[in-house]
Amino acid sequence: MYLSEYIVRMHHEYCLQAPVQEMQQAPVYPWQPQGGQVKAITKEYFRCKGASHNPPNIIVKDGKEVARFYDCSGSDRHSLPLQDDKEFVYPILIDLLNHIQKTTQKNVHVTSGHRCIAHQAFMDPSAKGSSSKHLIAAEVDFYVQGLEEQPLKIIQIIMDYYKDEAKEYKTFQRFDKETDVTTAPWLNKEIFIKLYKKREGRNFDNRHPYPYISIQVRFDRQKNERVTFSPDQAHRLLRK
Ligand SMILES: [Zn+2]
Repeated sequence: MYLSEYIVRMHHEYCLQAPVQEMQQAPVYPWQPQGGQVKAITKEYFRCKGASHNPPNIIVKDGKEVARFYDCSGSDRHSLPLQDDKEFVYPILIDLLNHIQKTTQKNVHVTSGHRCIAHQAFMDPSAKGSSSKHLIAAEVDFYVQGLEEQPLKIIQIIMDYYKDEAKEYKTFQRFDKETDVTTAPWLNKEIFIKLYKKREGRNFDNRHPYPYISIQVRFDRQKNERVTFSPDQAHRLLRK
């Protein structure tokens, strides 16, 4: 049997009119930069990007598992490197990133700042990885949002930061030895700049499709000494 129901309308009833929709601006959330302003880079941007839910990095040789590296439990479980019992990121890195933001009025996106020992080993268990300056927060990888494809412009801005300084700072040389990038890096007394093109230097922290820039600190101006460290020192740096 077919059941149906009639919808009836009385003569004084009328169809509801839907109000006309007006275009509205999307709300601006507090964490978004407002009014074209960029938010200052602080040490918070350098926290380790490790997370315990990442699957282990399994090293296979001749079809056999030879090693397995687990990621760290995340930056809320360990500190940034400590200096004099305070969390420490090399200030020149923070200054340079803020200088880029001020000049471009665009946001710098830090893809890799500090890496704890576990996160570094998870990303790159090679001996070279264990000497990465990311371990002591003396290295940063980043790109600039809105200028992703113009890294050379950003590198020029970095060099311009030093334009009124002494010769060993304002003069940048090219590094002609072999590295993991095809563009010869730039260096002055204080920093070493590398450009990773679209297909270079892809790693766990840099899974984005853009070229990126890495800055390493070579010389600590406050202490007036070269920036070096042993893996053992990197181990002792963190507060659990
Ligand atoms: Zn970590």
